[in-house]
Amino acid sequence: MPVATLALGSNLGERAAMLDQAEAALTDLPATLIAASSRHVTPALLPPGAPKEWDISYLNAVVQIDTALAPDALLTATKEIEHALGRRPGPRWSPRLIDIDILAWGDTVLESERLTIPHPEIAGRLFVLRPWAEIDPQWRHPASGRTVADMLADLEAGA
Ligand code: ATP
Ligand code: CA
Ligand code: CA
Repeated sequence: MPVATLALGSNLGERAAMLDQAEAALTDLPATLIAASSRHVTPALLPPGAPKEWDISYLNAVVQIDTALAPDALLTATKEIEHALGRRPGPRWSPRLIDIDILAWGDTVLESERLTIPHPEIAGRLFVLRPWAEIDPQWRHPASGRTVADMLADLEAGA
């Protein structure tokens, strides 16, 4: 079965419990959890001028699942999990109980109105690359040819 890599993040509520519940909900899908990183405390990513009360640090993790769900069905399922865990639509950048992003789905490249795979911000986000490197440093971006370890080294070097 294809391996999908997901980013989990929470900066509201009982953050560790939110990530625990998200991981548990993923195993209720036609999916098997095959790897989970440690949890990383990360400052919120905010645009200049964002309300001060949005500046709440995140707990982030990266997990991998073996899944029979195609990318679009997986996005629908992860949005349902976000909703079930209490996330409601809010302004961009605003605090959220849970965020589940699809970082990669095998080596598929896909761009549709609702889904871009691999996730377009991977190479610029330490809070994604650091946990991902714990569980699958050799995953290779199908477009750039860079591995997770390469992207992390570049970003840490300020490249
Ligand atoms: P970012 O994607 O920069 O981390 P965000 O997670 O805060 O931002 P959301 O409000 O959670 O953004 O999602 C906005 C929309 O992004 C979703 O409704 C979804 O349709 C779309 N989207 C596109 N590609 C992906 C992907 N790879 N994983 C998850 N959502 C995606
Ligand atoms: Ca996100
Ligand atoms: Ca998201």
